[in-house]
Amino acid sequence: MSLKPRKPLPKAQVQVNLKDAETMTCQQCDNKIFIQGYVVKRLSAVISPTGQEVIAPIQVFNCGNCGELLPLGGDIDELI
Ligand SMILES: [Zn+2]
Repeated sequence: MSLKPRKPLPKAQVQVNLKDAETMTCQQCDNKIFIQGYVVKRLSAVISPTGQEVIAPIQVFNCGNCGELLPLGGDIDELI
């Protein structure tokens, strides 16, 4: 007998077949496991439009093997 409450099944809004999805791999070493991290940008009060210092974390993914940044189509490389 289990007293665990049943988790409600999430209603799928969009049918996504992960078998059809591409597995992204590291451009350097073909590794498929990535580590989540943040690049943190600091906008000084002098150039900030609000006149206050702004801290802006940007989520990035690094290869778990060699640390290469996963390109996600943005300009993250330029930001760093
Ligand atoms: Zn790698």
